[in-house]
Amino acid sequence: MYIEDVESYIRLCEKKAHREFAKLEEIALYNQKKVLDAFRKNRVAAVHFNPSSGYGYDDVGRETLCKLFADIMQGEDAIVSPLIANGTHALTLCLFGILRPGDRLLSITGKPYDTLDDVIKGKNNGSLAEFGVKFEQIELNKKGGFKFNKIKESIIRNNPKAIFIQRSKGYAWRDALSVAKIGEAINKIREVKKDIIVIVDNCYGEFVEKEEPTEVGADIIVGSLIKNPGGGIAPTGGYLCGRNDLIKQISYRLTAPSLGMEVGSCISGYLPYYQGLFLAPSAVKNALKGSVLAGYALQVFGFETMPKPGKMPYDIIKSIKFNTAEQLIGFCGEIQKISPVDSYVTPLPWDMPGYNHQVVMAAGAFVQGASLELSADGAVREPYVAYMQGGLTYEHCVLAITEIVKYFNGKQLKETCL
Ligand SMILES: *Cc1c(COP(=O)(O)O)cnc(C)c1O
Repeated sequence: MYIEDVESYIRLCEKKAHREFAKLEEIALYNQKKVLDAFRKNRVAAVHFNPSSGYGYDDVGRETLCKLFADIMQGEDAIVSPLIANGTHALTLCLFGILRPGDRLLSITGKPYDTLDDVIKGKNNGSLAEFGVKFEQIELNKKGGFKFNKIKESIIRNNPKAIFIQRSKGYAWRDALSVAKIGEAINKIREVKKDIIVIVDNCYGEFVEKEEPTEVGADIIVGSLIKNPGGGIAPTGGYLCGRNDLIKQISYRLTAPSLGMEVGSCISGYLPYYQGLFLAPSAVKNALKGSVLAGYALQVFGFETMPKPGKMPYDIIKSIKFNTAEQLIGFCGEIQKISPVDSYVTPLPWDMPGYNHQVVMAAGAFVQGASLELSADGAVREPYVAYMQGGLTYEHCVLAITEIVKYFNGKQLKETCL
């Protein structure tokens, strides 16, 4: 099929998406109010944006930012800090803060995110394994649901101290977990072991729904500030939110035992963290609308997408399955070309550290590697899946998807002519 008028075709796809769009607008309005209420309750003022230096004692900017996250995510306490390098660092702090030698960790969503491999099982690098923490994983079933019988069995047999749940799909061909599904799993797990600590890798999930996992029983949630909750403005950092006692233990790991969150300064000031958090519900909505639109727009070329068109997204990632390496690389090329930064460079597959296959990436972002900004990446191997995410403005998503449709449209024409 050849699309004559791509612009009107995109308008048509937007019409098809009206039901999801309406729901996303409703969620964003709800979350914007949640965020705004927290700003007002905590009496945020210009003084909170000021830089601090040295030890950072009595840093009201740092303290209030933590309180805001705790209120918004409904945890008892939170750590929000530019001293956390990224999501992997935040998750590492969480695991090392909570677990002790001899403890066990059980992942019930299969293999945790790739960058955690070495954190959990690495050799000669200070991993959890080296400190005597045992790890086990139970895969999700074929439908992306929990294997409750296996989980129950393992909890009874091994008595793990903590359960690990990854909300987002990561690099797996599955749908992200809804908060309702996470809540249901937590309830079932607590029937078996009441005091088990539930950790949720919340990356890519913040503000996608009205509730966060902390509101359905998770003890602690963890994420990156250059993804959803930074609103595209926070230049670095990570957060953890949840139970008081756990946050305290983790704060001792972030700085030093007994110092915790009493120290830690930010010489550049906190303005982008506050402003980013305020913008986050809207930026996440824009990215999600882009994701939904891409699903409808690419359907005509026969590419399978996850989540499927018509389904509500539970994270900001859209997985797209291509038939060839050329299509995958071409797709990333189009995203790069229509980026505000580095639009003139061509993404090529490369041997990325930590991966055993070539990876292609499009990231024309203001903040290096920020994936709430429109970006895409994929492993250059079968089944040639691209993971597209982000989009600070819906209009940027529309422009990008238009170019992508034009790219594949032209390809089809060429193949038909040959
Ligand atoms: C991004 C991400 C992480 C952490 O990755 P960083 O690149 O270190 O921020 C962890 N888990 C999931 C599911 C992620 O999407």
